[in-house]
Amino acid sequence: MNTPINHDDLFIDGEFVEAASKDRFTAINPATEEVLGTVPISNAEDIDRAVRGARTAFSTWSQTTGAERAEVLSRLADAFAARGDDIAALVSRQNGAPQWWVNQNKRITEAIYRNGAKNAAAILAEEVLPGGEHGTVVRKEPLGVVAAIVPWNSPQALLSMKIAASLAAGCTVVVKPSPETSLDIYLLAEAIREAKVPPGVINIVTGAAETGANLVAHPGIDKVSFTGSTAAGRAIAISCAENLKPLTAELGGKSAAVLLEDADIEVFTDSIPWRCLPFSGQVCHAITRVIVPRSRHQEVLDAMVEKLSSLSYGDTSDPDNLLGPLATAAQRDRVEEYIKLGVQEGARLVLGGGRPKGFDSGYYIEPTIFTDTDPSMRIFTEEIFGPVLCVAVYDTEDEAAALHDATNFGLSGSVFSRDIEHATEFARRLGTGEVLINGKHGAPNVDLVRSFYKHSSLGGGMDLVSRYQLTKSIPRA
Ligand code: NAD
Repeated sequence: MNTPINHDDLFIDGEFVEAASKDRFTAINPATEEVLGTVPISNAEDIDRAVRGARTAFSTWSQTTGAERAEVLSRLADAFAARGDDIAALVSRQNGAPQWWVNQNKRITEAIYRNGAKNAAAILAEEVLPGGEHGTVVRKEPLGVVAAIVPWNSPQALLSMKIAASLAAGCTVVVKPSPETSLDIYLLAEAIREAKVPPGVINIVTGAAETGANLVAHPGIDKVSFTGSTAAGRAIAISCAENLKPLTAELGGKSAAVLLEDADIEVFTDSIPWRCLPFSGQVCHAITRVIVPRSRHQEVLDAMVEKLSSLSYGDTSDPDNLLGPLATAAQRDRVEEYIKLGVQEGARLVLGGGRPKGFDSGYYIEPTIFTDTDPSMRIFTEEIFGPVLCVAVYDTEDEAAALHDATNFGLSGSVFSRDIEHATEFARRLGTGEVLINGKHGAPNVDLVRSFYKHSSLGGGMDLVSRYQLTKSIPRA
């Protein structure tokens, strides 16, 4: 039994200050259902204070040079790295993510802050371009105060992308993490202080959806950078539209793997823990649909059942457990509802479908496979966000491509084939911003920006820093 970590404070203007709100969110360890601690559910007064802090800081931070911002980001990378292991362990206790996942996120997060420093140093604030009588001065100016809102599955890595690019551009930030993963944000706040990030450049308010909605709607916010569900992204887009606020949003997914006729099935099944069921499928790019040639359907199913049945399972504080609990009770209930729905819709349950035996507590669901699924079924088209894989069969490659694209999402896709050229050609047809071949990414680069297609994103497709900049032109004297 651990002592709960109870916070009554928020990080605003470089200080830990007592929250005006008396409401608290209780964080629960999803593997054990033990209470981990509490954080404030920030109210309008807290949000206003944080936004005012960010606005005041913007007047000086926006005037710093790229080299000065690079120094600050570099110190932040060091201070984060010094706490990386503690942050990773605390994130895993809050959301139940496996150790390999939080450790990978720790490395990515540090790399993103370091890369932010490189980007800041390389910023060309002003250049003269041809055009006009004597040329045109083109200036890149920081956009203003950014609201950065993130989900619970990769909280620190997703946040670092927003913080690093905003700060590099000269913006200041008000951060709102997910309430489920807010205890670790206090370690980031300590890192921010240790790195001597000027007061008010990064402010943190904790809370749930209502706090996020109030932050988005605050008139002192100039830009919203959101990562989370498509439903919340839509609500935020509506709020931003009312005030004509720019928004960048990375949203949900329902990614698919297409196994071409000559696919090496072992290559596919070997990738399952990392590509299909990372963090028990609670990852935006998780490949949760598997599209297979009819001639190999049974062979693929048998191999999938064998693989999923062999995956070690349980409390993810044990690094050997690749699969753990769902992050919250609500998440577990939602996944159970989808499993019930799949059966009602006529899909065939091949594996799992229930709560595993031998667990007295924790939000566990067995790894589950449905087959005979098709685009008429909601389990095939909607994001379940759990350890549920849907298999569908095709007769022609045209049908396979159509099945791949038969959802409103377009986040990630995957093709398996022994013939790489054929796989690459097939990948060109798919309506998604990223395609893996035989489980491998194109360029694992922290600066690589893809457009997530359809309802998987809004306002992406540019390099990260320019999302937080405005461009001004002035005739050269
Ligand atoms: P969520 O949308 O419920 O919450 C995300 C964050 O938004 C949380 O901090 C939440 O408190 C806040 N929020 C919720 N409603 C809001 C509103 N109306 N206004 C302002 N803030 C609001 O998502 P979740 O359950 O925490 O995370 C899972 C979702 O995130 C999945 O859909 C997943 O695909 C998506 N995700 C996408 C990416 C990506 O890069 N595309 C990465 C990770 C997760």
